[in-house]
Amino acid sequence: AVASPPPATLTPMMAQFFEIKAVNPGYLLFYRMGDFYELFFEDAEIASAALGIVLTKRGKHLGEDIHMCGVPIHAANDYLNKLVKLGHRVAICEQMEDPKEAKKRGAKSVVRRDVVRLITAGTLTEDDHLDARSSNFLAALSMVRHGDTDFALAWADVSTGETFTADLTAEQLQDEMARINPAEFLLTEATRLTLVDRHLFAPGWADIAHAAPPESFDSEAATATLREAFPDDTFDPSILSRASRSALGAILAYVRESQKGVGVALRAPKAETTSKYLAIDQATRSSLELHQTQRGQARGSLRHVIDLTVTAPGSRLLSARLAAPLADAGQINERLDAVQLLANDTMLTGRLRTDLKAVPDLARALTRLALDRGGPRDLVAIGKAISAAAALSAHIADLADAPAVLVRLARTLAAAPLPLASHLALALDDEVPLLSRDGGFVRKGYDQTLDDERALASQTRDVVAALQARLIEETDVRSLKIRHNGVLGYFVEVPAAHGTKLLEDPHRDIFIHRQTMANAMRFTTTELADLEGRIAKAHEAALDIERKVFASLRYDVLNHTDVLRGLADAIAEADVTTALAHLAATRRYTRPDIDNSLAFDIVGGRHPVVEDMVMAEGQSFVANDADLSGDDASGGGRLWLVTGPNMGGKSTFLRQNALIAILAQMGSFVPASSAHIGVIDRVFSRVGASDDIAHGRSTFMVEMVETAAILNRATRRSLVVLDEIGRGTATFDGLSIAWAAVEALHETTGCRALFATHFHELTSLAKTLSRVSNVTMKVREWEGEVVFLHEVGSGAADRSYGIQVARLAGLPEPVLARARQVLTVLEQRSAGTASSSQKATVLDDLPLFAHHVAPAPVQKDPVLTALDAVRPDEMTPKQAIEALYELKKIR
Ligand code: ADP
Repeated sequence: AVASPPPATLTPMMAQFFEIKAVNPGYLLFYRMGDFYELFFEDAEIASAALGIVLTKRGKHLGEDIHMCGVPIHAANDYLNKLVKLGHRVAICEQMEDPKEAKKRGAKSVVRRDVVRLITAGTLTEDDHLDARSSNFLAALSMVRHGDTDFALAWADVSTGETFTADLTAEQLQDEMARINPAEFLLTEATRLTLVDRHLFAPGWADIAHAAPPESFDSEAATATLREAFPDDTFDPSILSRASRSALGAILAYVRESQKGVGVALRAPKAETTSKYLAIDQATRSSLELHQTQRGQARGSLRHVIDLTVTAPGSRLLSARLAAPLADAGQINERLDAVQLLANDTMLTGRLRTDLKAVPDLARALTRLALDRGGPRDLVAIGKAISAAAALSAHIADLADAPAVLVRLARTLAAAPLPLASHLALALDDEVPLLSRDGGFVRKGYDQTLDDERALASQTRDVVAALQARLIEETDVRSLKIRHNGVLGYFVEVPAAHGTKLLEDPHRDIFIHRQTMANAMRFTTTELADLEGRIAKAHEAALDIERKVFASLRYDVLNHTDVLRGLADAIAEADVTTALAHLAATRRYTRPDIDNSLAFDIVGGRHPVVEDMVMAEGQSFVANDADLSGDDASGGGRLWLVTGPNMGGKSTFLRQNALIAILAQMGSFVPASSAHIGVIDRVFSRVGASDDIAHGRSTFMVEMVETAAILNRATRRSLVVLDEIGRGTATFDGLSIAWAAVEALHETTGCRALFATHFHELTSLAKTLSRVSNVTMKVREWEGEVVFLHEVGSGAADRSYGIQVARLAGLPEPVLARARQVLTVLEQRSAGTASSSQKATVLDDLPLFAHHVAPAPVQKDPVLTALDAVRPDEMTPKQAIEALYELKKIR
């Protein structure tokens, strides 16, 4: 932090800096100085390190150098982007007056400056800063110490205005945060400490958490703020819990603060109930690689494979649906009806997709305009979106017997305000600049006065050209030019050699000297100055008219905010629905049969992502069935114990069934020849737990924490997919834990479950537990090698083929031979064919590994030896080629 020194020691500028810095603690201050934003002191050190820009010094403060670094205005956006991505918060401090004004007040007075905007990860609105295909949420968490519900979360995407709230129990908190995946997270210090205390503060949150003042969470103040922010009768704050209001109040306060009075363009909040959705916890999301792979990449995730949307808002909606599949059979079937109709009508789907491709991001354009940060391109975008909405609506409206979702979409889209679109098209050029500042976007013929002023400005340009020709004629200096720059305005320029000529008779009275350059001299003339005045005036007048046109169009658009937001939602939904139909039609996906039973019957199921990869390699994916169907009478769903060698396809099979369930409940067709699923309330997947070294937990500890979470939370309606529980510990511990877990899932929970294991002993549970079955990944042995068939068959694996798999992986032959020996002895021992005294000594009797390999001390490969002797630096190309031939001979 920058300590404020006694005022007497400060220059006026530094005094101003400290003052502004003090009211914006925690922000890097971008302090505007001319064409640069400058950063000072610690801010400069942080920014220069983060951005890789030079750290310099500027004077001294309390005897110490003042560190400083700066970024030019025109490149500021890139730098801001980088800082925000790294989790920094930035305050933009602008000059609030022309420096000339400050000078008038006295030599020592500084230009008035003020912070006009705070830029943080959760409050971004510009396309430059945002990923078009991702939502960007700001979340706030409030905590109440009474009642059933402990917490409430509010979250908003400032770039689109979408706003939500949800009341949560402590248990739901982490899952909900994982679903929303906010860019920034507000909470009071007290709440943070409580979370840490109760082990509820997830490790990743530290990077996004921002301590907000307790006042901003005041629920009484929030109620008033909410009434003011959403004045119409569409929203009544009293329907929200006190905790929700408090969280929402904090969001509003923070957004308002960050936009510095420009206004907040949030939509009336939607209250979410978590029971509406299929619950997916963080570990399951990451294990199933829904939005990104476990290595953090988009490629290879489910989203990457199924996202065939053609608009950015559509992609955002698809992502949100994937994050929160439904848990209500009726709603799921409504979505599926719409997808089915379009999947069967590829002509219509094609037409809709072509139209959708041209639709701009309406919601974000609208928000920028509302915040007065928009430009002509945003207006053009809105016009195009309106026309597109009308066209889409016409396509859908023609359908006979359209399902409810499509009827609703067609009706919303039909409300597109076409007169507004035609007005925008009439007023604006096809190609317009990003900013309204410099004009040049109003269409010719829209405004007569504007056209007149523009004509005048361009005519005068012709006059400039004529004047130049005449001056050349008169002075006989062929290289004379009339040029323009920001400092001198229009001027006459001649090469230095001719300059003196113009200072003499007969030109002396006409040319007024302005500037002498190294090889040129610059002049003005009264005629030129006069012309300049006329051009500037016409230009200024034209600009003024354009600004007025922009303001009035913006006003028109904002008057349609509600209907435009409806259109934006409908366009995104139309995109998602057609994209899912296209997916179904092109990838052989089928409609799942969804009801309220305890069925889980997948015939010919495939893994959407692995199938893609396998097919890209020219192979075919082997489809597999899974039937975990049960009913209440028999105590719940079935549990399949899956055995088989490593690489046999166990985890692929496990995951594909969980993915099919998620796809089905988000309202998508599924990769299977048929699927009957009774609605699932929660899905749990733990496949291949690995050491969580970053958080100091061993594989075993991670496994146990997660197994505990499942056993405590799964219900009869849940789907549980578990891989190798107990792997991370000594054999008997692991086996007994896995054993007890299977019993508990079967006896107490009664969920539908797939359980892959290496403990072959577990397979005997099928004899005692009525709803447990054994299945195995089939392999065939061929000439001593294993061939994985990737086919699920009934029964248990008789062997694990570990040595064959090790061989495939390239383990050296002596090691494999030794392993076979050890295995034979161990197998005999456990089969009891060795006597007890033999058992005790049998391992000692085995020839030691070292004897087997040691006699021939590791010899260096002759090729390597020869290679070591080669000195590339000392060789000619010809010698190098000869050396290559020699090397090949050794081989
Ligand atoms: P395991 O979990 O048994 O070790 P995996 O599920 O990781 O095995 O599968 C290993 C590899 O086998 C996969 O990466 C994939 O290439 C291939 N594979 C798995 N299942 C199938 C299948 N059904 N059809 C074709 N290839 C498959």
